[in-house]
Formats: sequence, structure tokens, C-alpha cells
Amino acid sequence: MQLTDRINRIQVSPTMAVLSAAERCKSQGVDLVDFGPGEPDFPTPEHIKRAAIKALEENCTKYTASGGILPLREAVCAWHRRELGSSFEPKECVINVGGKHAIFNAVSVLVQSGDEVLIPAPYWVSFPDIVKYAGGTPVRVNTLPQDGFPLRAAAVEKALTPRAKMLIVNSPCNPTGAVVPPEEFERILALCRKRGLWLLTDECYSHFVYPPNQPFSVAALAGSSEGLVVIGSLSKTFAMTGWRVGYTLAPAALIEAVIKLQSQSTSNPTSIAQYAALEALRGPMDSVPLMLAEYARRRRRIVEGLRATPGVACGEPGGAFYVFPDVSAHLGSAKNALAKNDNDLASLLLEKARVAVVPGEAFGAPGFLRISYATSMDRVEEGLRRIAGLLARAEAA
Ligand code: PLP
Repeated sequence: MQLTDRINRIQVSPTMAVLSAAERCKSQGVDLVDFGPGEPDFPTPEHIKRAAIKALEENCTKYTASGGILPLREAVCAWHRRELGSSFEPKECVINVGGKHAIFNAVSVLVQSGDEVLIPAPYWVSFPDIVKYAGGTPVRVNTLPQDGFPLRAAAVEKALTPRAKMLIVNSPCNPTGAVVPPEEFERILALCRKRGLWLLTDECYSHFVYPPNQPFSVAALAGSSEGLVVIGSLSKTFAMTGWRVGYTLAPAALIEAVIKLQSQSTSNPTSIAQYAALEALRGPMDSVPLMLAEYARRRRRIVEGLRATPGVACGEPGGAFYVFPDVSAHLGSAKNALAKNDNDLASLLLEKARVAVVPGEAFGAPGFLRISYATSMDRVEEGLRRIAGLLARAEAA
């Protein structure tokens, strides 16, 4: 079949591949510890579900404006102002079908052939492929494990060329959990503005940060929306991954372009999901600190457990619900190595220990594994036992 060049430039998300392998195991009745998922293990809060039911009962089931209902655009701006200190107006806001869709659309309207897009590595798997699909060239910006992986302005400056059009920052980061400190973010913003670079900031994990970090948006320092694209999502903060609601905050002209694209592609995000989102943003947020407290407990335990595992080096992430340990001591061609690379180690963990993790290679970081602790404390304990069992056997061999 003759498919287009643009579809042949991208691949199926490798995290989805792990999810499928884990699902296959589970369907065969295997007792799997699943550290794969990138989504909260908590249900959507009741008051949000009730708002969706009410919207259904009131027949809010028709097309809405392509860019989302105005009350929701207003609520996003008000929420972002209250929670993160920005000052966007509704004409600078569009509602998208999740954060991924928001990034896809913003990149589609800003990036074309010949443009470079700077992406800090390790990166979320979708960033490079979304850029490639738009015709752009992803350019890697390194972050360092010994520094805890936060992006540094100096590293951005090193990677800049005259063809650079955009920098994508994701803080807290999937997969490392790294948080860019506010003063570093300020330097990054100043550099982008000086060099005429769009700064796309993916804030999907903004509210999952551990003390002393606080929820933060660079938009609070920006003064205006010039050169800035803020991407947010209700998926993680409100445990609403399946509802598919995200948003973009950016200069009005860019928002109009995204609305034009949506008017010819998805049209509006699902109407009832928009009403649920409205309740999420306007209603009580007590579920968020409860989830965060539970993630904090698991993070402490998983970091401690991995650090006690032979041949594993694990930093303490500042946010999100992932740890990203270095397992390179177990890899290579030496006789006592457990596996050739992180892909093989992930397969081994699945087959022999019945633990699902995502290999670092998928995030541009060979030698690492991404472990999601969006699963119960019991499963965290069991997973740690199984990983330690496999790796300790290797050490002893
Ligand atoms: N950005 C990052 C860094 C993510 O990890 C994810 C989801 O895993 C998203 C964006 C997109 O989330 P959604 O499309 O569910 O809003």
C-alpha cells in the first residue's frame, strides 16, 4: 500500500506497545505487576462525573463551537490565573481533545519543513514524532542524570541553530519526573524571546510536584503571551484520561489558527466532557492533594526500594508519577550482564519477573527504565520484590 511520507515518518507510540504486551499477559491470566501506565490509578472524582450526567440529561449533546464552549475557555483562564498566576484571556484559549491533541495542533500550525524543534532528552515519546509529522526536524537537547535531568538554559543555547523555531519543555517531565526550577525557566524564556524561538511548555503534570517544589507556570513570569504556548490537560490532574480534554493558552492569532484546524478535523471536543471539565475547574479540588499525598508515599518507597537493589541507581524525581532508574550496570555484552540493552531487560522483566516497565530507549535514554508508580502500594511492594529478585540473581551469577 502506498502510504504518505508523513505517516511513514512516525511510529506507533512505544509506550502503547508496552501497554499492549501487558494487556496480552493479563488476558492470559498472568499475575502481572504493571508499572507501565502513564495515567492515575484513581477514579474521576464524583462531582465531575455527576456534572457529565447532568449535561447528558439536559441534552448538551450537540455540536459546540470548534474551539470549545466559551464558559470553559473562561474557566481555563480563571483556573490558570488562580492556580499558576498567569493572565490569559478567553481569546487566548482553545479547548482540545486532550493535551496530546493540543500539542499536535500547536506544532501543526507553527512548524513546517526546514524548521528545527529543540526537545530536551529524555523526552516524552510523542514530541519527536509530532514534530516529524509536521515536517520539522527534532533536535535533541541533553539533560544530565547527575543533575537530576532538569533542562538548563545553557544546554538550549548550545543546541540552537538559525533554523530553530521552537523549544518544547515538559516540567514535571515524563519520563524523568524532573522539575525545571523557576529561575532556570526564567532564563530559558529570556533566551527563547531573545532568539525568536517559540516556547511550548507542556504543563500536563503541573499539580503533581513534591515539596519543596510548588505548581509553577512560566506564564506567570512572561508578562504577555508573546512567543509562548502553554499546553495543559485535565487527564492527570483530575484523573480524567479517558475524557479527552486539554487546552492551549497562546497569542490570539495562534489560537485562531488552531480553531481553524479543529474546524476542519476533530470539530469540538466531546460536549459532555466539556461540561465535566467545567465542573473540574470550577469545583472543589480536594482530590488533587489526596492523590499527591499517595503518590508521595509511593515515590518514597519506590526510590528507597530501587536504591537498595543491586546495580540500580535511582534519583529522586521532583514531580509526576514516574521514576527513571539507571540500570546500565546490568547491560552490555559482558558474560555476567543480564541483558544486552534496556529493551531486552524490559522483555526479561516481563517474561521472567512478570513486571511491565518501559525501556529508556523509547524516551531517547538507553540504559534506563521508566517505572510508573500510578499503581497501589501493594503492587509497588510486590514489583520491587520481583525486580530485586531478578537483578539480585544476576549479581550472584
Ligand atoms: N504530555 C505528556 C508529557 C504526557 O505524559 C501526556 C500523557 O501521557 C500528555 C502530554 C497527554 O495527555 P492527554 O492527551 O491525555 O491530555
